[in-house]
Amino acid sequence: MAHVAIENVYKTFPKSRQSDETKDALPDTDPNAAAVLKRINLTIHDGEFMVLVGPSGCGKSTLLRLISGLEEITGGSVWVGDRRVNDLPPKQRDTAMVFQSYALYPHLSVYNNLAFGLRRMGADLEQSLPELGKKPLPVSDSPANQELERLLTESRWWEKPLVSVTRRLPPGLRYVSEAERLIDDRVRAVAKMLQIDGLLSRYPRQLSGGQKQRVALGRAMARNPQVFLMDEPLSNLDAKLRMETRAQIVNLQRQLGITTIYVTHDQIEAMTMGHRIAVMNQGQIQQVATPLDLYNRPANRFVAEFIGSPPMNFIPVQVQAPFLLVHPEFRLSLPSEWDNRLLPYDNREATLGIRPEHLSLALPAPKNIRGQVVHLEALGSETYLTVQTERLTLLAKVPPDAAVRIGDEVWLAIAPEKAHLFDPVTEDSLWHG
Ligand code: ATP
Repeated sequence: MAHVAIENVYKTFPKSRQSDETKDALPDTDPNAAAVLKRINLTIHDGEFMVLVGPSGCGKSTLLRLISGLEEITGGSVWVGDRRVNDLPPKQRDTAMVFQSYALYPHLSVYNNLAFGLRRMGADLEQSLPELGKKPLPVSDSPANQELERLLTESRWWEKPLVSVTRRLPPGLRYVSEAERLIDDRVRAVAKMLQIDGLLSRYPRQLSGGQKQRVALGRAMARNPQVFLMDEPLSNLDAKLRMETRAQIVNLQRQLGITTIYVTHDQIEAMTMGHRIAVMNQGQIQQVATPLDLYNRPANRFVAEFIGSPPMNFIPVQVQAPFLLVHPEFRLSLPSEWDNRLLPYDNREATLGIRPEHLSLALPAPKNIRGQVVHLEALGSETYLTVQTERLTLLAKVPPDAAVRIGDEVWLAIAPEKAHLFDPVTEDSLWHG
């Protein structure tokens, strides 16, 4: 397998629409071009499952398309293993892409959809001949793929007539070329792994959404690529199937160890699937970290708000170093781990961030906040309260059996060890700073 390195990559599109006028052009680039990716640096380790997550339009699909070769890179470099792939066509990058739309060939059976990419390997190899007479450039580093490429391109003149002469005989008596035998083995192994071996003779129109998605996944797996690129592959599935397929993709990835880059805007998918997550916003990476690090130590207010559902509450406070936060409605002491981090903010404003699950019902006290329940969502396993205080609207997650009704007065306690603090101007976390 291979690592993927994205170095200083940027992408601009010509400003063709009015909405693009609001997008910045990058310094040193064409001022008439809108930058949708702004100097991205990211390394995905060999065998790693990296999730790219961010709101709609932040550039995650564009980044994936640049890696796959479906979109041209404006500047910077993309490496797959030791190869700089900027100038290689998609087929020679040794990556396989799975799309949200499945992109299956409707006129081919499941078997032939799975085999299609493998049969094309020979063609890819021929296209990769830089000049006639020169040694072909292998499309793949994998020995199994190179063997298949050799069989597909080698002059095996006797195979074609044998195949055509025996075509009408019963299956056991037909001549099967060596390449087809290898392809057959691989198609059947992948189909078995994905539990679609009973569907090989069906056509895409005869499959459910979940089955189509597994075929799309199988087609990528059959190619035995160095890197899987997946663009929101589960978006068209219902909630239950989504969860099942999510687990299946994670298990397969861990089993095969294929480096995977997975795009989603769904933070549950991001949190449950990736070894690491890159959070993107407006063409830039905001933070790259493990799921729990993102949740526990968001680098800035954007990440804090994007990761975690429902989102974090933000409260303007005044800092009194070393450990006190003051708000007209409460005074909160932070634990000593904050050390000297608050000293530069002494007597200045900061933004306190607290997740709904770190607010709890409490008794009246100066450190707690008084308010009225204005909305209540009882989900069975937990209850969400919207509490209106004098100056704030807060969302709190409380146990399902909490005896609270709309209109009740309540006191909320903030768990001080779970507090996050952000600079009110830069929005960077004071912890990371
Ligand atoms: P979504 O989750 O909605 O798919 P995304 O994060 O994947 O969003 P991209 O599809 O990468 O976002 O698009 C990033 C930005 O680039 C968007 O503002 C989009 O309008 C713009 N964009 C994408 N393709 C083109 C194009 N061919 N020409 C001009 N602008 C484009």
